Amino acid sequence: MRSTNGKLDLAELDAVRVYSLPMRTRFRGVTTRQGVLLSGPAGWGEFCPFEDYSDRESTPWLRTALESCFEGWPEPVRDAVPINCTVPAVEPERAHRIAAESGCRTAKVKVAESGQPEAADLERVRAVRAALGSSGAIRVDANAAWDTDTAVRRIRELDRAADGLEYVEQPCASVAELAAVRRRVEVRIAADESIRRAEDPLRVAVAEAADVAVIKATPLGGVRRALRVAEACGLPCVVSSAVESSVGLAAQLALAGSLPELPFACGLGTVALLDGDMVSESLLPVDGWLAVPRHAPAPSPALVAAATPTAETQHRWLDRLRRVHDALPG
Ligand SMILES: [Mg+2]
Repeated sequence: MRSTNGKLDLAELDAVRVYSLPMRTRFRGVTTRQGVLLSGPAGWGEFCPFEDYSDRESTPWLRTALESCFEGWPEPVRDAVPINCTVPAVEPERAHRIAAESGCRTAKVKVAESGQPEAADLERVRAVRAALGSSGAIRVDANAAWDTDTAVRRIRELDRAADGLEYVEQPCASVAELAAVRRRVEVRIAADESIRRAEDPLRVAVAEAADVAVIKATPLGGVRRALRVAEACGLPCVVSSAVESSVGLAAQLALAGSLPELPFACGLGTVALLDGDMVSESLLPVDGWLAVPRHAPAPSPALVAAATPTAETQHRWLDRLRRVHDALPG
């Protein structure tokens, strides 16, 4: 199972299938999601780093896929995970409908969209509160859009409009700014981008910059590594997806299922963002919950055939897979 340099050998894989799926809505500037499904002795995995990621940045994504294929995941501590719905920067009527129809008790609302007036954010969170009622939880995600003074002012206004926010995700870009905002507001601060691409994920906790850590198995190198990051950072964690097909999403659910504590709903209801899937029984939440799988679901041959891209795209991904494998530390 191991090549001479100690790395898993790609030749040990039973199957390698490149896929390309259209997205229902634009995400990270792209309208298709592509990746490679891999099969090994322990089951299926998915390798789907974003297009703009370097080979080095993509190595944890490959580790995550190879963990699924060769090792499988640790025993979960819960059978199901609560899921939040995601409300994009849409008008209030549509925000209300998305939250009400989701069946979820927690909504993540996108705010600070460039080009939109500040009042639009307030109307959106009010509409979501009306949809969820007083027992629902509302968090907002600013995707690092604000400076510290703007963040402090906006968080207070949004907290009032929402009649209480569960937390605000990544209000500012830097860890130092998150820490500064956190000292000035009552609302919990969650670090997302700071953990995903930071050189040292634990820096966030060290700087006392956050109350909640948003983690993903994929960029952290697998379920086991992500569990170690969660333990080391000492913060309550929320697991969110990288918009994988159900094959890759299963690893994120395995992580959420294995965390010792899971006080908040997770951002794993994302298969619906894809126009299609690679498995016949998609991992879509029911009444705001998703079951924790023991293995990734096996792809359906018919769906794999339907999602197989051009020979050129296949070659590009297989080259990428080999390069990223070469970039894995020995
Ligand atoms: Mg986020």
